[in-house]
Amino acid sequence: MSAPNPHITKPVPVIRQLDTAAVNRIAAGEVVERPASAVKELIENSLDAGAHRIDITYADGGKTLIRVTDDGCGIAQEQLTLALARHATSKIDGSDLLNIHSFGFRGEALPSLGAVGRLSITSRAEGASTAAQITVNGGDITPVKPAALGQGTMVELRDLFYTTPARLKFLRSDRAEVQAITEIVKRLAMAEPFVAFTLTDISKGGAGRVVFRADAQTGDMFDALHGRLRQVLGKEFAENALAIDAEREGLTLTGYAALPTYSRGAAVAQFLFVNGRPVRDKLLIGALRAAYFDFLSRDRHPAAALFLECDPERVDVNVHPAKAEVRFREPGIARGLIVSALRHALAEAGHRASSTVASATLGAFQPERPEARVYQMDRPSQPYQPQGFAETQAMFARVEQPDEAVIQTTSELPLGAARAQVHENYIIAQTADGMVIVDQHAAHERLVYERLKKQMAENGIKAQALLIPEIVELSTGDAERLLAVADDLAGLGLSIEPFGGSAICVRETPAILGEVNAEAMLRDVLDELDDLGETQSVKDRIEAILSRVACHGSIRSGRRMQAEEMNALLREMEATPHSGQCNHGRPTYVELKLSDIERLFGRT
Ligand code: ADP
Ligand code: MG
Repeated sequence: MSAPNPHITKPVPVIRQLDTAAVNRIAAGEVVERPASAVKELIENSLDAGAHRIDITYADGGKTLIRVTDDGCGIAQEQLTLALARHATSKIDGSDLLNIHSFGFRGEALPSLGAVGRLSITSRAEGASTAAQITVNGGDITPVKPAALGQGTMVELRDLFYTTPARLKFLRSDRAEVQAITEIVKRLAMAEPFVAFTLTDISKGGAGRVVFRADAQTGDMFDALHGRLRQVLGKEFAENALAIDAEREGLTLTGYAALPTYSRGAAVAQFLFVNGRPVRDKLLIGALRAAYFDFLSRDRHPAAALFLECDPERVDVNVHPAKAEVRFREPGIARGLIVSALRHALAEAGHRASSTVASATLGAFQPERPEARVYQMDRPSQPYQPQGFAETQAMFARVEQPDEAVIQTTSELPLGAARAQVHENYIIAQTADGMVIVDQHAAHERLVYERLKKQMAENGIKAQALLIPEIVELSTGDAERLLAVADDLAGLGLSIEPFGGSAICVRETPAILGEVNAEAMLRDVLDELDDLGETQSVKDRIEAILSRVACHGSIRSGRRMQAEEMNALLREMEATPHSGQCNHGRPTYVELKLSDIERLFGRT
């Protein structure tokens, strides 16, 4: 490397003030990333204007046209030019940035959109007799002229990014952009259930197809939200959703969270709002996951729409230009509120399993039924395949006779009286108005887990010494990792010691589990340690390990049970929280009402 030549110096730079158009284009880079962000800004303006209905249309993925029409308060004719000026807003006076009650306040959206596209605003203010229109193309403003419009505002944005071809290149396919637009509209529609929304595609050839519609809801906030969630997320979400209504130190949490059995394969149905504003916030998403941690395997994701409200001073929304992220003054309170409110609601839901399961079962019986739905969990629940005559006979031959006392009390028992065990794993029970099919393995696994947790919380899990300690050979690394958590494991009733080299000696196992395969259990614990990594809290890790351990003491499918034993299992399920789903979020039982059964046979 040669030394810098002392004779060539950098020319002294000239500092210039950028012109407004350039400033706005730069600002647009932060606020307007893609058509969906323009749609978001325009809808938020309509909501801030008190609109009751908002109609959104677009063409070509929003790239050639976005139009948002509202019936809000409108903009006074003489203010139209100002609306296009940078940092001009009617929403704050600038004195208190911590007290924000509107979606907008930065006064950046309209000038930014006008700098990177062809923007026209037509508006008729409340009480005004005529409407007016202003146009701005790539930063050039055309004077205000009269126009025709009912009360409200129509903002039209054509040819987004025509002034910045480089950005145009970053846009995705029309389909991908439409998906992003739809997502934004749905999120805002969830935030504002009393407002009507339509989203229409007017691309050439698309001919006015309504992509999404949400009618204005009525009633109290919970009714309205429930109705809106049904429109946006579907009937199944609405039917499987638990209402959430909790408060902690001035923060409130409302909304709906779905039962664990209605879970998704990806985090696609998690909608979080802070003071009415849709946010994607790691803290809140993490709290949601933590709340369901016990009920879902790692590859399943909870579904919920939750609204956190607090004094605007306790949360800063001004940390991100598009305001998608927020910062809480007391993050611990927000997290604790979410975790405890959801856990509480899930516990109260007790053994209620997802209704999806029962309808999918019915669907499986009647494949030709048009509304038969596919069970959306990982493993389709279709315990009953059509049986041949011989198999049916054999099945009946195995039926245990339930005793009289059990039959008499059926009407008071939610899970009914056991009538039979089929395929060595499914308990059929008769309830007051239908029947219940229990997956004995899944149910038992959950019960063992809940028992282990209870012991853990009381005085630690009871251990049982092995008559002959078991020596397990592992790799050196694995042995070290286990020994590093030996104290935690001892608290779980699993005592291990080093046994020279990479071997481990197992002295005690959890008493509840009875006889277990110590080696298989150690390997499961290792898997669990791998999966969890170091990030999880000790408590979460212990619970995950317990849940694994519970599998080892469960009644495996394939075990014949007597009526008494089956009924004992049903009673324990009734008495145990969360017994409606196994540790992996699958249902432990399905209930068919008599009316469902009658429908199957065409009796109604
Ligand atoms: P902000 O929303 O941050 O105030 P904008 O650039 O989005 O900034 O809008 C500037 C101003 O224009 C708003 O403060 C509001 O007074 C007015 N405005 C924008 N859109 C509408 C609308 N749809 N209805 C009524 N007023 C609007
Ligand atoms: Mg705005």
